[in-house]
Order: sequence, then structure tokens, then C-alpha cells
Amino acid sequence: MSLHLSSVLGVLVAPRAHLDYPTDLGEFASWFSTDADCLDYLRWLRWPKGFECESCGGAGWLNGDGRYECSECHLRTSVTAGTIFDRTRTPLTVWFHAAWLFSTSKDGISAMALQRQLGVRSHQTAWVMLTKLRTATVNSGRELLRGDVEVDETFYGGRTPGQRGGRQHGAKLPVIVAVERHQPRGFGRCRMGIVDRVNHATLRQFLIDNVAPGSTIHSDGLNSYIRATGGLYVLNAQPAPGALATVVLPGAHRVASLFKRWMLGTHQGSADWDHLALYLDEFVFRFNRRTSRYRGLVFLRLLEQAVAHGPAPYHELIVTPRPKRIQPTPPSPALRSQTLTLERPRERRPWRN
Ligand SMILES: [Zn+2]
Repeated sequence: MSLHLSSVLGVLVAPRAHLDYPTDLGEFASWFSTDADCLDYLRWLRWPKGFECESCGGAGWLNGDGRYECSECHLRTSVTAGTIFDRTRTPLTVWFHAAWLFSTSKDGISAMALQRQLGVRSHQTAWVMLTKLRTATVNSGRELLRGDVEVDETFYGGRTPGQRGGRQHGAKLPVIVAVERHQPRGFGRCRMGIVDRVNHATLRQFLIDNVAPGSTIHSDGLNSYIRATGGLYVLNAQPAPGALATVVLPGAHRVASLFKRWMLGTHQGSADWDHLALYLDEFVFRFNRRTSRYRGLVFLRLLEQAVAHGPAPYHELIVTPRPKRIQPTPPSPALRSQTLTLERPRERRPWRN
């Protein structure tokens, strides 16, 4: 995993608590009280060795307008350009608070809760922030699962749009679940991914994307696994007729049901299944860091990936128009022109009167 910080000086350097990332709310609050502080941190995460041109690799200087200019090709860019913070109208202090809540709460946070916590007036603003943070939970350079890996299929989805009540199988999406099985007990990291349909070809592609060759694949008796694993993996299929699937693949079933509980719990029915892929990414991110001692480190990893990640424009986040229960009330023109901020007017502090 070549994360920015890890590659400083070409050696693996583990980020240090209190120095590289805040460990508690107090430290967080004192480090990031202004937008300039936040920008400074992002600059350090993005260019730990100083500005480096993304086009030609050249060094450069900081212009008066806050943008960097490459001394070789004269490309001009900003710290947030090309990241999820690109062209945001939301102050970085608000973003940082959202990222802190996102990474320090064990189960994450719903758009509704974020809206309340930060005093964000529009539900959509909170929703977009969360959705963009979610896109930063995938690390493209992440290591493949290895060793003994349980693989199973499940289905997730909500109601079919236009149909009241009952859940229709047709509206559900097949999801492949993979989790490392440790000896003698316990589980390691997991991966989840949506496929068009479950067959040997989609299973094989999922395995290639997520599991290191040579690993042992533990599956139920589905025949597709024979072709899906052929030549690359060792297959241990256990078609245990009559036995509970949870006994054969306890890890995969645990992960699958944890995800469902998380969707229904944290997001309390307001989770929209249209964005299932992003929720899967966030869940996998959380699951794989469940034993992380310092939540601040999770915060750092999230921001690291956020500045390495593309801007994710709003229109790309919308898979289909959201069938939302909570309709965000359209902001009045006065509110719309008002910039979101965490600052509150001093006169609203009653103890000053
Ligand atoms: Zn350049």
C-alpha cells in the first residue's frame, strides 16, 4: 500500500499519534479551528515532501492566490483541486468535523444525524458530504485478501420503486462477500462487491480483483466456483446437504448479516439502496479497521484517501433519482446565498448579556 505518508523518505513510516493525527476531540479541535489549519493539513497529506506537479513531477511555488504553480510546465493547481473537496462551497472546518464524526464513530453516521450535529440547514449538503467521504473509503492500492478465504453470495436491496410494501427479489442486487478465515478461529479482512449476476465469470472477476492467487477459496457447493477458481486458486467446496450454511461459511454469513444490521441500524431505513456500492465500500472500510486502536488514525487514512481521490462531482453521485422518504426542503434564496459555517454569532451567546 503506497500511501503518501508511508512513502515519505522511501521507507515505511507509521503515522504517529499526537504528531501526525489527533487522538481525541480536544486535539482535533485545537488543530483544526480554522480553514487555513485544515488546508495546511491537506497540503501536508497531499504533498508530504512539498508541492509536486501532477503533470510533470516538477517542483514549484505558491502564488498569491493560494494556488501552486509548477516551475517546469507552469501548471497551476490548488491543494483541493482534483480531490473530493474540489470547488466545495462548504468550509473545510465543516468538512473536517464531518470527517471526524464519520471516522471516529464506530458505526458511522447518517445524513440526518450529521445534519443535526453540524447545524447544516440542507439535508442535501449533509448527504453530499457523507457520500463524498464514502467515495474516499476505497483505497485503490489496497492489498488483496489471502490465505483461507470464505466466499459466498447474498442479495441486498430495497423496495422496487413504485411498488408499495413488499420487497421484490427483482429489485435486489447480487453481492459477493469474501472474508479471510483465521486459524484456529476469528476472521480477518473482508471485501464485498456487486455483480450483475452470479456465475463463474463474475465470480472469477471478483476473485481476481479481491483475492490473491494461490489462496484457498472456501465456498458452498455452487458449481460455478469450480470454473471461477480453476488454475488460480485452491477450491474447498463443502456442499453440506442439510447442514446450515452458517456452519459451512460462518465468516461470510457473519459479514453479510452485519452489513444488513448496519444498514438498518446506523441509517435507520433512510439508507438508499441505489447507492449500495458506496455503502458496501464504507462498511468494508469500517469492518477492516474494527480493531484499530486509534480512531484518529482512521481519520487520517480517510483524509489521505480523500486528497488522493477524484472530485466526485455531484451528478456522478446520483445513480438514479433518490426515492427518499425525507425530502429535503428547498432552501430559501436567502439561505442558499448564506455560506455554511460552524461559527455562530457572538450575540447569540446568552451568558454575554
Ligand atoms: Zn509541471
